[in-house]
Amino acid sequence: MSNKVHLGHHARKRFGQNFLNDDAIIGRIVAAISPDNDHTMVEIGPGLGAITEPVAEKIDCLNVVELDKDLVARLTSHPFLGPKLNIHQGDALKFDFGQLVEEGKSMKVFGNLPYNISTPLMFHLFEYAEHIENMHFMLQKEVVLRLSAAPGTKAYGRLTVMAQYHCQVIPVLEVPPGSFVPPPKVDSAVVRLVPYKDNPHPCQDLAKLHHVTSTAFNMRRKTLRNNLKKLFSDEDFTQLGVDATLRPEQITVAQYVALANLLSQR
Ligand code: SAM
Repeated sequence: MSNKVHLGHHARKRFGQNFLNDDAIIGRIVAAISPDNDHTMVEIGPGLGAITEPVAEKIDCLNVVELDKDLVARLTSHPFLGPKLNIHQGDALKFDFGQLVEEGKSMKVFGNLPYNISTPLMFHLFEYAEHIENMHFMLQKEVVLRLSAAPGTKAYGRLTVMAQYHCQVIPVLEVPPGSFVPPPKVDSAVVRLVPYKDNPHPCQDLAKLHHVTSTAFNMRRKTLRNNLKKLFSDEDFTQLGVDATLRPEQITVAQYVALANLLSQR
């Protein structure tokens, strides 16, 4: 199948380019984002502008981060978008979102993300959670299921714990492959992530939470006692009321935070 898009751009697989081409879906995404001038608006991967344009119609200025130089050139010379966009050419994974923070404003971040980098990109964005009002992302449906999974389910993993530590996770809508050009091989879904202003389970040192979760989920079939034996004794588990015979997907975000906080006290 040809991957020539109607607008004359050759979709680049390595940049995860699947362009939205469904006005009904785009309308629902823009309504969910609810663009306004009271927030610093940021789009990751504007591409050919499918979401960028209807969002820019509602606001004065939109920050975009785009890796593909050809697409940046098109956006820059676009008669309507060019003057409204604050364009950052580069890799969103390495982008310092802190530079966009404006006094007295929090950010609304959104994007139809390149699926190959969506998980590390979300981890990167969690570092700026305190500056973010909300995020709306188009992702593989499977990733949205992981983000919103409950303990005890197959989809519950390290991404779930870290996402639910930082944010309230709200699935918004499902999107079939036919809504994109070229169509991706997987189903997609839009999710809303709302960072907590007052975290219900504050963690003293996020690096410890990263360490505990990556160690715990290293071997999903093993028990917590086995996976975490270098970090915690049976007495530690007892002290925290965590059953060490459970598997990593069976304990809550609050329990992971309690384990991380115990490490911080040493
Ligand atoms: N927003 C457009 C749409 O919905 O039609 C394009 C979405 S497409 C799935 C992903 C976009 O992210 C492409 O424009 C691609 O060039 C861009 N992209 C890929 N990797 C990127 C990265 N590391 N940093 C920033 N943008 C990236």
